[in-house]
Amino acid sequence: MKVSSLFCSRTATLFECLKIINSGGVGAALLVDDELKMIGLITDGEVRRALIAGASLNENVELYANKNFEFGKVEDTPANLAARFDNRVKLLPVLDSNGRVCELLQWDTKMRLPVAEPDLRGNELKYLLDAFLSTWISSTGEYLARFESGFSKFCGSSFGVSTCNGTAALQLALSALDIGPGDEVIVPDLTFGATINSVLAVGATPVIVDVDPITWCISPDHIEDAISTKTRAVIPVHLFGQPCDMNSVMRIAKAHNLRVIEDAAEAHGATYHGRSVGSFGDVAAFSFFANKIITTGEGGMCVTSSPELDEKMRILRDHGMNRSRRYWHDCAGFNYRMTNLQAAIGVAQLERVRETIDLKRQIENSYRDGIGDLENVHFQVDVPETSRVVWLASICVSDGRRDEHLENLLKVGIDSRPFFYSLGSMPIFREFSHSNSNSLRISRAGISLPSSRPVTAEVLEKIRDVLSGS
Ligand SMILES: *Cc1c(COP(=O)(O)O)cnc(C)c1O
Repeated sequence: MKVSSLFCSRTATLFECLKIINSGGVGAALLVDDELKMIGLITDGEVRRALIAGASLNENVELYANKNFEFGKVEDTPANLAARFDNRVKLLPVLDSNGRVCELLQWDTKMRLPVAEPDLRGNELKYLLDAFLSTWISSTGEYLARFESGFSKFCGSSFGVSTCNGTAALQLALSALDIGPGDEVIVPDLTFGATINSVLAVGATPVIVDVDPITWCISPDHIEDAISTKTRAVIPVHLFGQPCDMNSVMRIAKAHNLRVIEDAAEAHGATYHGRSVGSFGDVAAFSFFANKIITTGEGGMCVTSSPELDEKMRILRDHGMNRSRRYWHDCAGFNYRMTNLQAAIGVAQLERVRETIDLKRQIENSYRDGIGDLENVHFQVDVPETSRVVWLASICVSDGRRDEHLENLLKVGIDSRPFFYSLGSMPIFREFSHSNSNSLRISRAGISLPSSRPVTAEVLEKIRDVLSGS
């Protein structure tokens, strides 16, 4: 595209301007004066709004152009120019000393380093196509059985029951354990909302407890404090790939006859005392959402070593229908099934899961090497006898400037995300909060960094500059 093809004279009509926008392909025209000095930017959105507000197509365009547009100068460095883009600015004209346009820079999502993106470079497409061509595209097909047995084996469990997403897996586990109205379920304060939502969805009462300041996962002491005569279960969440203190959780559960559902949505492949997470509780729920360690687009799985729970979850997942007597319902169930298409992607993902886990660990190590010495930066820790996986390389900053850092990272083209809010800090969950002081502090200080591509020296330098405030 030649920049001059986007030039629109200040005397043009809205209609003439629209024609330029239409043929230019960037969704905007550059308003110039007689000397070709740029005096305004007009986007298709602005023209649309003008027309809706009653403007006529023969009116002069200048009235509707944005004269306060963002621009760069030829002498600006590429980093400086990149920093001008944000959620609002997607087009950046670069002007010479006479105010003439030399170049038009366009924001490209590829320019922003994403926090997480799926890696589908293995056999994903091949298996997906195979499943598609077999016409077994619903919830029957060979990839489902392969994925269920392969994934449960990977977790050190006997059975895998695939589901349409991770939240459905949590609900299925709770339902299979007969947890419902009148029952209390203990959940950590620092987790994704699906953990507590699933408890509410089955009609049980969540009890939110604080996390451990070292692991950022559910605190066993706080579990004990929160146990009442109504407590039926606890859902430890292996946050960002960090295994919970499962010895303590299982000891407490045994002493108080509680069921344990591991929320392992973020921790595929992590181990604790040599055992895979997901093999400790009665059931564990995994998610295969697009940003998780293994993805099927949407998807989830319950793993268990109990044949009874496996059977019960299969029935509940499939409308509560009897497995041999068709259309006979033994109980009121759900449709939480995964499709064979999703499972085909899952089988391919599973083939490369070790590679993915190694890459993510390497990414975190790059960050540790590059910014680990900054005194305001604190990484998630490795606990003895546990092998954490890195779902998202995550840090806490101790300078009280977390939100500022998030904004500044975005300005240099690096996406990052804040930690989850403390559940108990949100009005809809507040009544269920038991304790949350560690969690509040961690939640407000936490940043997850881009965690799916190898970290370049340039990215590291940008992050270092932002976090060190230089
Ligand atoms: C992603 C996630 C879930 C939910 O998984 P979906 O597949 O998105 O429904 C549940 N718990 C935690 C901790 C998660 O991170």
